[in-house]
Amino acid sequence: MSAADWYAHKSLGDGLFWIQERFYQSDNRANIWLLRGTHQDVVIDTGLGLRSLPDYIDSKGLLGKDPQRKNPLLAIATHAHFDHSGACTSSNRWASTAQSDREIAEAPCPGWRARNYKVKAVQPTHILQEGDVINLGDRQLTVLHMPGHSRGSICLHDRDNKLLFSGDVVYDGAMIDWLPYSHVSDYISSCERLVGLVDSEQVDQVLPGHYNAFGAKRLHRIATGYISRAETCPAKFSTFAWRTLAGVALRAFNPRSAC
Ligand SMILES: [Zn+2]
Repeated sequence: MSAADWYAHKSLGDGLFWIQERFYQSDNRANIWLLRGTHQDVVIDTGLGLRSLPDYIDSKGLLGKDPQRKNPLLAIATHAHFDHSGACTSSNRWASTAQSDREIAEAPCPGWRARNYKVKAVQPTHILQEGDVINLGDRQLTVLHMPGHSRGSICLHDRDNKLLFSGDVVYDGAMIDWLPYSHVSDYISSCERLVGLVDSEQVDQVLPGHYNAFGAKRLHRIATGYISRAETCPAKFSTFAWRTLAGVALRAFNPRSAC
C-alpha cells in the first residue's frame, strides 16, 4: 500500500491540517497535525510510521509554498509513545511498541504482522525544553513541558492564535496516568497549569493527541475533573497495579523486524 493510500487528511483552515492513518483502527490512533508557516511547516506527532508521512504530505501538496520553493518540514513528537512518535524516536524501548493485527484493517505491505513491527530509529536533531519557541515565520509555537502522562510530554502553544496542541496531556477521554513512566502528582501540576491557561484566556481551541478538538470550557472541565479525582481518590494501589501490569505487557512485546 502506498503512503497516499495509508493516510487521509482534512483542511481545518488557516494553514492547519488534520491527518489520520486510515487503516489503524484503534483507540490508540493518534491525531497528526500539520501547521503551515510562512518560513517553515511543522508536523506535530507522526503516527505509527508504517508508511512515509513526508511522502504523503508531499504527494498531496500540503506543504506551504512561496514562488521559489516548498517550505521545509519539521517533525515534532509530543512524547515518545509509539502511536505518536512513528519514525521520530531513537529508541524502541521508549516508544513502547504495542499493537495487534486486529487493529490494522489493511496491512501496509504483504506479510506484515504487528508482532514483527518495530519503530525505525532516527536521531532527533533537537531535544525540546520548556520555553523553547519554534518559529514558523508568521506563527510561533512555545513548548510547555507537561509531565504526568509520560515524563517528557509537551504541549505546543500558539499564543497569538490561542491554539494548544496537547498530545496526550489532555484529550476528551479518560486520561492515562498509570503507564510505567506516568506520575500522578506531576499530572496534577500539569492540569493546574492547563486551568491557568484557560483562566488567563490564553487558549480558545485544543488540538489533542486523540479524538476531537474542543474548546476552553471543556479543557477547564477535563483538567479540573482530573485534579479533583486524583486528589480525592489517589487509588495508589490500582495505579501501582496498572503500572506493573503495563510494564510487564510492554516488556512481553519483543519486536524483531519492520517491513
Ligand atoms: Zn501517550
